[in-house]
Amino acid sequence: MVPAGRRRKVSAAVKRAGAEALLVTQVADVRYLCGFTGSNAALIVRGSRLTMFTDGRYATQAKMEVDGADVVIVIDKPVAVAACEWAVAEGVKRCGFDAGVTTVGALEGLKAALPAKLRRSFFVAMRGLVAGLREVKDEIEQERMREAAALGCRLFDQVLELVVPGATEFEIALALEYMARSEGAEGMSFETIVAGGARSALPHGRATSAKIPRRGFVVMDFGVVLHGYCSDMTRTVHMGAARKDEFEVYEAVLAAQEAGVAAAKAGVTAGEIDNATRSVLVQAGLAEWFTHSTGHGVGLEVHEAPRLGKTQTQRLKAGMVVTIEPGVYLPGKFGVRIEDTVLVTGEGCEILTGTTKAWIEL
Ligand code: ZN
Ligand code: ZN
Repeated sequence: MVPAGRRRKVSAAVKRAGAEALLVTQVADVRYLCGFTGSNAALIVRGSRLTMFTDGRYATQAKMEVDGADVVIVIDKPVAVAACEWAVAEGVKRCGFDAGVTTVGALEGLKAALPAKLRRSFFVAMRGLVAGLREVKDEIEQERMREAAALGCRLFDQVLELVVPGATEFEIALALEYMARSEGAEGMSFETIVAGGARSALPHGRATSAKIPRRGFVVMDFGVVLHGYCSDMTRTVHMGAARKDEFEVYEAVLAAQEAGVAAAKAGVTAGEIDNATRSVLVQAGLAEWFTHSTGHGVGLEVHEAPRLGKTQTQRLKAGMVVTIEPGVYLPGKFGVRIEDTVLVTGEGCEILTGTTKAWIEL
């Protein structure tokens, strides 16, 4: 079941944007609006009516999954072309498309399929119209995200016993992924990051055949996909006894992360949350090593709007689900990142990834 509210919102947004219809080609957007999980689909939103186009491989699946949209099976052409031709036949003269999704090449292909008189005027570039609706999660989505995050937390607790000197990063990633699938996850939200020793200083250190060292940090950043929704969390543990500088960096990152969580609340701008985490690291003299933004939205995709960066003026709304993930990376030495996924509320936020952030020494 797809809540009817999503269809109402999208048709109102299309109207506000001044188009007669909207072409949706991003699969997560299509899924959000009509429940279809296949990999090839286009959707036309016209007034309160949704029509989805997919190919013959998905005829049965579309029947089972699609809710609130008519389905057209396309045999001999790209689904987006078929969708545009259908819209033209229905009398649509101006159709929105997502300029953040459709490539220049794809747009040329779509224009070529239009009658000559419509080629210049038919398409209206819109950016992230459906992505904007997806930022605020409805109750069904909030519950799914709680479940996905809770599964991520359970897996982290279970995998800790495998984090031993000599084990490879691959082995730890594999164990996480195997357990995730065993527990019903459809897959991982992104390539699992397990980065030990000096590799912990790589902000995006995908697991390799490197062995977990006897002493030093291990950063683990991973997520599962459960019922279509992604989880995302990072914890950093330490092998053996820590040196003072390692402990101090960890404490600073933790304080920064907690400051970000404390700042998260409906009405606050994304930039203010970034500032909350960053200013703690400025105080600690570590800000130059915090080389990415504070966080991002999570939902059907692991990285979606909004972005929590320094210059973002967008205000958070209740129902947004975002990550707060400051890190400090000292090249060639070590790195620490701590990441929670939180649900923004009117009073503050609910931490969905409740696993302890206290120092863990293995
Ligand atoms: Zn992450
Ligand atoms: Zn993240």
